[in-house]
Amino acid sequence: MTDLAHGDPGHPADTAVVAVDIGGTTIKGAAFDDRGALLDRLTVPTFGVESSAVESLAALVGRLEGAIAGGGRRLAGIGVASPGLVDPVHGRVSFAANLGWSDLPLVDILTERFGVPVALEHDGRAAARAERAARIAAGRDGDEFVFVPIGTGISAAIVTGGVVVQGATGGAGEFGHVQVVPDGELCTCGQRGCIEVYASASAIVRRYRAQGGTSTGLTREITEAVDDDPVAARVWDAAVGALATGITGLAALLDPTAIVIGGGLGEAGERLLVPLRARVAEHLGWRVPPLIEQSLVGPGAGLEGAALLLGPVARGSRAPGSTLVSPPASVPSPPKEFS
Ligand SMILES: [Zn+2]
Repeated sequence: MTDLAHGDPGHPADTAVVAVDIGGTTIKGAAFDDRGALLDRLTVPTFGVESSAVESLAALVGRLEGAIAGGGRRLAGIGVASPGLVDPVHGRVSFAANLGWSDLPLVDILTERFGVPVALEHDGRAAARAERAARIAAGRDGDEFVFVPIGTGISAAIVTGGVVVQGATGGAGEFGHVQVVPDGELCTCGQRGCIEVYASASAIVRRYRAQGGTSTGLTREITEAVDDDPVAARVWDAAVGALATGITGLAALLDPTAIVIGGGLGEAGERLLVPLRARVAEHLGWRVPPLIEQSLVGPGAGLEGAALLLGPVARGSRAPGSTLVSPPASVPSPPKEFS
């Protein structure tokens, strides 16, 4: 596991930390006390009444800081999980298409605003830290796996030798922007045919509507309608196919024990995993395919991983490998819609 990027607050007993998981649709936040117990949580739209995603984020942290202060504690640190190309060492988000961010010094912005240490990590890699802790606690392999959270976007956190791979510029894991359909549909990144264009929760809704789908069009409804609705079946098949092609590449390159599917779409469970396993096994006929499993932590993994970035709580009060906050209490309630 990688080291803390910023600061080591130490967390005296009258303090609390805020963890934030930024998504393309919502920003999830939670406050934890000095022993890692959940104090409060809050979800806001990424693009709500505030003028930008940065302002939405700052407003959310400010509201949680207010709640902490109301409980007689002071803010000791902020852990942030962000999508996009994230450089945790320099505290910058180099690029996040869904947020409109380019070379954003997010750590400096939040440090200046709140005056406390701020730790930043890629959302997928932060979630992988939480997933790794949960896998080890459950007696599963936590050293060689790839965590693939699927929500508004798709990424992959590669864990090898027990370490979350960062890449030379902090940009490892942009699995959603691996091209699987030559000359396919246009992606927000500028390429065509990226996995994300076919298999993200939002892509499934967008493609279903574009192809004349008639249900109300929530991702969950579409995935549940594949037996009766030919448009849903077609869109779902393309999503599974894009993921299977990408996962086949990951398996061939990395030889992981498991591919762990998380994020909102991971909650589809066996409806996704059964066809995905079959397609990957088809591609990998020449070798034993990796296990393809549902996330143990669930959609709250990014948030829990963001809290783990503020490591002294976990190091000080928990056994190595245990989760900071015992699930399921720490995990935000399951979304009504995949996001
Ligand atoms: Zn792309």
